[in-house]
Amino acid sequence: MTNNLKKLKQVLAKEGLRFTCQREEVWKEILSSGEHRDADEIYHSLREKGISVSRATVYRTIDVLVKYNMVRKLDVGVGPSKFEHKIDISHHDHIICMKCGKIEEFVVNQIENLQERVAEQYSFKLVRHIHQLFGICKDCQ
Ligand SMILES: [Zn+2]
Ligand SMILES: [Zn+2]
Repeated sequence: MTNNLKKLKQVLAKEGLRFTCQREEVWKEILSSGEHRDADEIYHSLREKGISVSRATVYRTIDVLVKYNMVRKLDVGVGPSKFEHKIDISHHDHIICMKCGKIEEFVVNQIENLQERVAEQYSFKLVRHIHQLFGICKDCQ
């Protein structure tokens, strides 16, 4: 069993949930993509692959993965939240279209450094940050 599957097994156990192949498929589906997708898109992708899983199982499993920091939940302002896995993914921020929900990823060193400086100024040791920009993408303007 891979480390990622072991991790799933552990967190399900902590939540008092059984490790089932449906839940395993949900986790594998999220791991297989670098995109930001909502829970329904993840559900439909599984169904298209012929995997028989209920919507409830998909939602419940995602909730657990978010709770244990294996998946990031992005509030996009319009429509449902989007999800991406956090396994071996380097830090990045997001710019989100408020009309169509498109998400681009970016890393700007100056912004990263400035945030460190702000934390320093207030005598905080920075642990993490969430930086999201909201706007209207080129296609939607
Ligand atoms: Zn757009
Ligand atoms: Zn992302």
